[in-house]
Amino acid sequence: MPELPEVQAHAERLTEAFAGTPLERFVPITFTALKTAVPAPDSAYGRPLVEVGRRGKYLLLRFGPTTFVIHLMQGGRLLVDAKQSPKPRGGQARLLFEDGRALLLTEAGTERRAGVWCVPGDAEEAGPPLAKLGPEADRLTAAELQERFREFPMRLHGFLRDQHAVAGLGRRLANEVCHRAKLSPFANTGKLKPEAASAVVEAIRGAVDDGLAYERTRPDMSSSADRPGGVHHRVGEPCPVCGDTIRAVEYSSYEVDYCPTCQTGGKVLADNTTSKFLK
Ligand SMILES: [Zn+2]
Repeated sequence: MPELPEVQAHAERLTEAFAGTPLERFVPITFTALKTAVPAPDSAYGRPLVEVGRRGKYLLLRFGPTTFVIHLMQGGRLLVDAKQSPKPRGGQARLLFEDGRALLLTEAGTERRAGVWCVPGDAEEAGPPLAKLGPEADRLTAAELQERFREFPMRLHGFLRDQHAVAGLGRRLANEVCHRAKLSPFANTGKLKPEAASAVVEAIRGAVDDGLAYERTRPDMSSSADRPGGVHHRVGEPCPVCGDTIRAVEYSSYEVDYCPTCQTGGKVLADNTTSKFLK
């Protein structure tokens, strides 16, 4: 799933390409693509795109009175639609601009979870889907993060992925942040000391900055295998910091990757939550 750096760099690319161009029409291709009824998309027709911003993992296409909030979910993309074919593969919705260009929202697979929400104004005060997002992950101070830790006591890896706790990170960056901070992905946030909060703040900024630097060199959004990192999807490879072998705890839809020497005092993690239920 595209996370903060990928979405941010993509927002910048789209702003550069489309800012100032008036919207002609919004065309839903599937009936699940548009998640809202009010305001209607036509409230933005004829309005130039002010910019494409970002909040958490959402793209915000700002047209003044109305903002189109787009979530790409797992396999979604918002790409320049050169062909504009009537039935594009994976097509969810299309934004047609007055200069004849178009942006196409596609989603791979059949989950149909990517979508578009129209919200009034510049979306800062918006209701769903932005209202319950936590603060931007890379903007927090250590004291603010410590506060969030107390409010959301859970495993650190789960906390980093929880968009209500902090917004913008996903499975990949949660792995990378835990590794950079030299903390166990299973550490309980409710028990973490201020030094740990400082380490996590630094780790988030480092991982986000590296991701952004890489992503900004690209003409389009990277695929997950190309993104920079030390542990994510590198099980069996040597840790770039200490040389120990990267290990994983596997779940049905994702894995937690970590280095035992750097993060758990050499201990190999088992998934206690799952094994308890399996007994
Ligand atoms: Zn290591």
